[in-house]
Amino acid sequence: MANNTLNRYLFEELSVRGELVQLDTAYQEILSSKDYPAPLQTLLGELLVSTSLLTATLKFEGSITMQLQGDGPVSLAVINGDHNQQLRGVARWEGDIADDASIHDMMGKGYLVITITPDKGERYQGVVGLEGNNLPEILEGYFERSEQLKTRLWIRTGEHEGKQHAAGMLLQVMPDGTGSPEDFEHLEQLTNTVKDEELFGLGANELLYRLYNQDKVQLFEPKEVEFHCSCSRERSAAAIVTVAQEEIFDILAHEGQVALHCDYCGTTYAFDEPEVKALFADAQSENKTVH
Ligand SMILES: [Zn+2]
Repeated sequence: MANNTLNRYLFEELSVRGELVQLDTAYQEILSSKDYPAPLQTLLGELLVSTSLLTATLKFEGSITMQLQGDGPVSLAVINGDHNQQLRGVARWEGDIADDASIHDMMGKGYLVITITPDKGERYQGVVGLEGNNLPEILEGYFERSEQLKTRLWIRTGEHEGKQHAAGMLLQVMPDGTGSPEDFEHLEQLTNTVKDEELFGLGANELLYRLYNQDKVQLFEPKEVEFHCSCSRERSAAAIVTVAQEEIFDILAHEGQVALHCDYCGTTYAFDEPEVKALFADAQSENKTVH
């Protein structure tokens, strides 16, 4: 049975919040799209888990893109996820990658771009250097600098009962500043004891009980996580009309169609001249009714 879930919880007395994400088929689907080398599979799993954990912190409807870029054998690894926990992602690499390659071996001189895009409102972008031994450490540094909130992440990927799993946990002090460093450390130490097979195989209730049975945990409704590309013909059409009309007709004149390609899932949406004309006509009549 597939288990792709995100759980959020609260240690109210300790002013610390937590998250647990456990992915099996959602992770397996992203791996199945290309023949990724093993360390890149791990990196994608870590990105997938982190994006899920981060989107769960969104206080509005929107999406987060976590994009690793570098001049190493892996030029790009990107995951995009939204408030509905629909995630998609892809990576590009060239040549051989050793089985024991670290994030630095793969990315070379690189950085992590975190883009938060609300459905309504300004987008926010943060650029983080790759300071740390792995993605969780890099993100912990990001949280400390950007949000000034003590945050710890535990992310594991690997095989469990013959199938690939990716899972992770997050602890973060509540922004109201009522938590004590000792309480956070206490929860950190308990979480440090989590084993891969527990993260991959146990349900949230059982796992939280095993780790924190002396502390009061309030567990919220779980959310289902899904590997799903949110691209569509409608979205592509909406993107076309945001471009200057003459630019679009220039493309039409040269190529006979306007084609938008989704890098995440490989789908191409093509529009011919009558379709493009209709799109711009619709957009204009909509503008008239608005103003
Ligand atoms: Zn797509």
